[in-house]
Amino acid sequence: MDCPVCKNAMITLELEDVEIDYCTDCGGIWLDAGELELLLGNPQQAEKLIRSFQIDSDYTEKPKKCPICLKKMQKIIVGQSTPTLLIDRCRKGDGLWFDKGELQDIFNRAQLDEDSKIQKLLADMFGEKQNTNTQ
Ligand SMILES: [Zn+2]
Ligand SMILES: [Zn+2]
Repeated sequence: MDCPVCKNAMITLELEDVEIDYCTDCGGIWLDAGELELLLGNPQQAEKLIRSFQIDSDYTEKPKKCPICLKKMQKIIVGQSTPTLLIDRCRKGDGLWFDKGELQDIFNRAQLDEDSKIQKLLADMFGEKQNTNTQ
């Protein structure tokens, strides 16, 4: 599968027994349909999160193309929090695209347990853990 942003082949990573596609160039992540729910682990939390998705018909960013069906994806606003978090979703439901850091951002906003395994995994894998320490 090719990255919808830089068109390079993505690699497959295994995260909590879920196979995700990861672009080593831009740090983006593709999740097939249903994988976000699997990663969240908690069906209620997943449902709440997914119910918060709203289609953003007013975005200015150039649409990315779904790596599976190659059709333009739509922008989805996640939750109500600010700054607005936008992700890309295949209109046919193939899956979701997260630019670098967005997947972690979602887990942060979903208010998972502080020592959520998935957060740690992502931080280890991508070294993106928000560090608020001053230097
Ligand atoms: Zn990429
Ligand atoms: Zn698609």
